[in-house]
Amino acid sequence: MRISDVLRNKGSDVVTMGPTASVTDLIGALAERNVGALPVVDGGGQLVGIVSERDVVRRLHAGGAAVLTATVADIMTTDVVTCRPTDDAADLAGVMTQRRFRHLPVVVDGTLAGIVSIGDLVKARIDMLESEREQLQSYIAG
Ligand code: AMP
Repeated sequence: MRISDVLRNKGSDVVTMGPTASVTDLIGALAERNVGALPVVDGGGQLVGIVSERDVVRRLHAGGAAVLTATVADIMTTDVVTCRPTDDAADLAGVMTQRRFRHLPVVVDGTLAGIVSIGDLVKARIDMLESEREQLQSYIAG
């Protein structure tokens, strides 16, 4: 299964955040869109980072409520690991598990083309295994 197969089912819509937005706005976006991380995109549409609820929690613990007035750029991860639609979904699930992050932006020719979470990859794998099981069952049952 490829990342493009996962995106076909979940869609390629991506909610993004600008680097100059405040952490308070970020928390609002995470809560309202019901997501755990957002790619950070500058005015020119370039991916400049990724920011997750985990970054907010860590900074709250380290510095208290002052983080609410910091910017997204202050707390985001700039060294973003991305993937391509042609990448193998199982390989990337392994990368996410090993490197301990749960989100991977999908990039095509430098442009953000989607995002997959570890939850999306697990769901896609379960759906595929379930459909294989049904096919085998109907083959055996004749
Ligand atoms: P997550 O598990 O995705 O909520 O993120 C855990 C940590 O990894 C946070 O510090 C994120 O900013 C960072 N992170 C999340 N996704 C990525 C990614 N694709 N590349 C690099 N860092 C990431």
